[in-house]
Amino acid sequence: MKILVLNCGSSSLKYQLIDLTSEEILAKGVIERIGLTDAQLIHYRYDQKFIVAEDQQINYGGIINNHQSAVNCVLTVLTALDLGVIDNLTQIEAVGHRVVHGGEKYANSVLINDTVIADLEYYSKLAPLHNPANIIGIKSCLALLKTTPMVAVFDTAFHQTMPPEAYVYSLPYNLYQQYAIRRYGFHGTSHKYVAQQAAKFLNRDLKQLKLISCHLGNGASVAAIKFGHSIDTSMGFTPLAGLTMGTRCGDLDPSILPWLANELNMDFATIDNLLNKQSGILGISGVSSDFRDLAEASTQGNTQAELALNIFSYQVKKYIGAYMAAMNGVDAIIFTAGIGENDIKTRARIISDLECFNIKLDPQRNNVRGKLTLISSEHSLVKVLLVPTNEELMIAKETKLVIHN
Ligand code: ADP
Repeated sequence: MKILVLNCGSSSLKYQLIDLTSEEILAKGVIERIGLTDAQLIHYRYDQKFIVAEDQQINYGGIINNHQSAVNCVLTVLTALDLGVIDNLTQIEAVGHRVVHGGEKYANSVLINDTVIADLEYYSKLAPLHNPANIIGIKSCLALLKTTPMVAVFDTAFHQTMPPEAYVYSLPYNLYQQYAIRRYGFHGTSHKYVAQQAAKFLNRDLKQLKLISCHLGNGASVAAIKFGHSIDTSMGFTPLAGLTMGTRCGDLDPSILPWLANELNMDFATIDNLLNKQSGILGISGVSSDFRDLAEASTQGNTQAELALNIFSYQVKKYIGAYMAAMNGVDAIIFTAGIGENDIKTRARIISDLECFNIKLDPQRNNVRGKLTLISSEHSLVKVLLVPTNEELMIAKETKLVIHN
């Protein structure tokens, strides 16, 4: 069964065509700078890389100047004699769309119809940076693949099992009732996937496990997963909350916002940009939003880079402590995403001085990147695992589940 997974952002489109029978990626790629004159497609067929630059686009559906032409280009390339992997579009049995926000209504993935699209438009108020692009991707795809079933897989859905004490903010309650201001949480597809993989690896029933999943990438969040359900997570109403991230500030004293407005005369757009684009480890270090650059700067004696790394690790450790308390223990801690899968030193910093909770890393086992591995010591009662995430595969699996139901 071949499923196309689409992740449509404001100026980019990522795709994977997955054969779910073998879980093999037949083709994948990305179009960046949609809407600009130099948009190009980078397409991988099996492990061969091709670049479809502007002068070749005419051979693959026409110039990419908007999302619809981007989707058209992807579909044309997938079926092209030279770059393609399928004979015709009917071989795509379903399309799974990554959608950031499903509000309170969507606790599960759903078959897309007019009502769903109207709901997503409504939830654009909650995710103005993401949902509009996701909707454009869905509509562009529907226009070209009229009879193919399409499924929306939400970043927020997995966290809809949180109890009210975890998701209600300490604001006047009517702001929740009238405007749905609450914690939603994100990265749900990844947290769900790695939790399932961890249970499989440990040969345990997910329904009997208490897990803490640390998705540490440019965007980063921690989730407490008790008996298969998310019961708390660090991101909130938006993906700005929780941990300090590449450029996002994470949790702050909310009074800082009016202070910036009153004392520094910043308007809302400036503050929003400051919190989302100029803060996090970039803001603290003044070096970069990338952990590799920070590690490099820190070894050269840059104390602000070192501070940024320490702040990040300290915050992840605090969430681990909080979620152990929330679940009355933990069986396994999972590291995933760019930093979680690759940054050996950051993992070691986070899992340091936790022996009193029976959590201990094995430095030898931890010397690994991007591979499903047990990295805790033999004597650690709590298992620590590196589990590579695979959001696209999870979206494809969810899509299959929905269309078969
Ligand atoms: P996102 O999907 O949110 O954009 P990723 O999951 O791709 O983010 O993670 C990006 C982060 O992973 C960057 O900060 C990058 O520095 C970090 N990263 C990737 N590879 C390594 C590595 N080998 N060592 C340390 N950090 C790494």
